[in-house]
Amino acid sequence: MIPVADSHAHVNPVRGLGAGEVARRFRNAGGWFIALVSLQPSAYGVEGSNVEAYVQAALIHARECGRAREEGLRVYCLAGFHPAEVDKLIDRNGLKPLEVLELGFKVLEELSKLVDRGEIDGIGEVGRQHYRTASERVLVANMILEKAMEIARDKDIVVHMHLEQAGEATVELVDVITRRLNAKKEKLVFHHAEPRVAAEATRRGYQATIPGIPKLLEHVLENLEPTYTLESDYLDDPKRPGAVTTPWDMANNIARIATKSKDIEEKVYRINVDNIAKTYSVRPP
Ligand SMILES: [Zn+2]
Repeated sequence: MIPVADSHAHVNPVRGLGAGEVARRFRNAGGWFIALVSLQPSAYGVEGSNVEAYVQAALIHARECGRAREEGLRVYCLAGFHPAEVDKLIDRNGLKPLEVLELGFKVLEELSKLVDRGEIDGIGEVGRQHYRTASERVLVANMILEKAMEIARDKDIVVHMHLEQAGEATVELVDVITRRLNAKKEKLVFHHAEPRVAAEATRRGYQATIPGIPKLLEHVLENLEPTYTLESDYLDDPKRPGAVTTPWDMANNIARIATKSKDIEEKVYRINVDNIAKTYSVRPP
């Protein structure tokens, strides 16, 4: 079986299948590695717009990561502060932009302690809104991203970045921060990257993950240099089936496309093994 890695997925033990079942299905389809990213507190039924709610969500997620490991997968476990939370906290919870900034910073400090304690491995998702919103909100989100990049540099951990998809501008607007902070590019992942963003990001030494959805998968495997990784961005929430794909469907599709030619099979190996090893320092058992 071709070893397949899912470089960005979510699991929800409250609304969905939870990590154990997701991991079993993925492993049975050839999965060996998965980067599991926390959801916002409300997705787990945790209410409140304070640090405690985010820490509780991160700990629920850490437990889920453990369940996926018990099923035999290699897991990289990330918790973060999604840029959409900035808007949600202002619009629904009545926080002011600077209160969100302060909260975001505090959450990252707590997550950094969870990294020290070995509860989580990295930070994600953080970044900038991919939709139009007030400029001060984008700046708040960007400051939180910068703080995460600083922590990642000091602790040598991975950050999954959720960003606007503005081609080279998106990459340069991260690169400016990286240069200033002296951050480690290979640990910074452009999540949900369009092929052109992924190509530019990896050309500059970053990691990028492209959604492994059927309409993209065939195209990128056949035409793009294999410098990226693939992600399902599975949400594990039956109420939000708009989600991209499932880890196991993605694995099955990759395996099917890999049989088309020796060339594609080699690319699939580089994408799912070598590129994962570069960022996460793991290899299939
Ligand atoms: Zn995601």
